[in-house]
Amino acid sequence: MLPFSKLSFWERSVYTEGIDFTIIGAGIVGMSTALHLRKAHPKAKICIIERGYLPTGASTKNAGFTCFGSPTELYEDLSKMSDNTVWETVAMRMEGLQELFTLVDPNRIEYQASGSWDLLLSHEKPLPDAFLDYLNEKIFEINGHRNTYSIDKDITAVSGFEGIGTAYHNQLEGAIHTGKLITELHRLCVADGIQFLFGIHVLSFESFSDHVEIQSSEGTLKSCNLLVCTNAFAKDYLPDISPARAQVLVTKPIKNLTIQGTFHMHSGYYYFRNVGDRILFGGGRHLDFEGETSTEFETSEVIQSELSRILSTNLLPKSCFDIDYSWSGIMAVGSEKKPIIQKTNKNIAFGVRMGGMGVAIGASVGKNLSNLFL
Ligand SMILES: Cc1cc2nc3c(=O)[nH]c(=O)nc-3n(C[C@H](O)[C@H](O)[C@H](O)COP(=O)(O)OP(=O)(O)OC[C@H]3O[C@@H](n4cnc5c(N)ncnc54)[C@H](O)[C@@H]3O)c2cc1C
Repeated sequence: MLPFSKLSFWERSVYTEGIDFTIIGAGIVGMSTALHLRKAHPKAKICIIERGYLPTGASTKNAGFTCFGSPTELYEDLSKMSDNTVWETVAMRMEGLQELFTLVDPNRIEYQASGSWDLLLSHEKPLPDAFLDYLNEKIFEINGHRNTYSIDKDITAVSGFEGIGTAYHNQLEGAIHTGKLITELHRLCVADGIQFLFGIHVLSFESFSDHVEIQSSEGTLKSCNLLVCTNAFAKDYLPDISPARAQVLVTKPIKNLTIQGTFHMHSGYYYFRNVGDRILFGGGRHLDFEGETSTEFETSEVIQSELSRILSTNLLPKSCFDIDYSWSGIMAVGSEKKPIIQKTNKNIAFGVRMGGMGVAIGASVGKNLSNLFL
């Protein structure tokens, strides 16, 4: 790579000088933030710095669920966090989805309003009867939609599952093509005159009275303001952020696949969907919480073999399948699931700690983060 000091006059005037807003991280949050900043600052010079040749965190690696909360996950969250925190976070996810679809045309990212199902194995205890009514009441308070959740007695037979006891349906969740969301955000940013510097690793930054100095792998950059959208990789700057690796596999095409839509199991720790005639299956972080705090983009035998076992026992008991792809991505968790959107100086702010529902919440984080600089 060429250090900034060796760039031409032309390159510097376009890319590295006179920057009003620098964003670190070209994930969903970084690019949504840039698009929102552009609306409020039409003439500003906005630059996104990304360490990878592609975004290299979670936004290009996720399962593509547009989800805001399965019944068993919400039940567990309500037992660990205050009701207010849980419902504020759900409301942010729902607002985020609306926000996402104002930024991006749903057709261009293959959005499917497929609904979702939360499956309980036969030996798992169903949720208390009144809990679905409570969830429906809360969702009605947030967006005026009635009967979002219901029990579905048919999905097990329709999909050909084995060993499933109870299934809860959610009408409002769906799926997108993860890769197309990122390329679409990138396309919109470029059309809005937002500069990208890929392959630059930010090492540190410091706030001064009228600018921020950013030390990077290729030298120092100056910017009037800095917005940090590095999610799990912001753990060295703020407390209460831990990396949470998540692993996924995708099968080869399966003949006469009967599974259509998005599915959660085990309080959201497992999730699967069809991608055309393949199955994408991910999760299992709870099998090795400690090991999955790694920021290495590796997969582990213990999790991959359990995903394969559940696939053959419960999800595809009558089909032969082969695994075609497996990978991991890194998201962030903390003592609560709410993201951190915070200014730490007058010219530096963070929009980080996106967990397993960053597709939904990301656009709303971008909006709220950019609003800190109105
Ligand atoms: C396997 C998996 C499945 C998931 N499934 C879903 C799902 O179905 N639905 C859902 O809503 N959410 C899902 N998520 C979560 C979701 O993907 C994340 O919450 C979301 O992508 C976070 O976006 P972000 O922009 O905050 O972070 P990221 O996408 O991680 O972006 C941060 C960027 O910052 C860059 N960066 C970091 N440090 C530096 C540095 N020092 N210098 C320069 N650049 C840097 C990284 O390279 C990265 O590109 C999943 C996550 C994973 C891993």
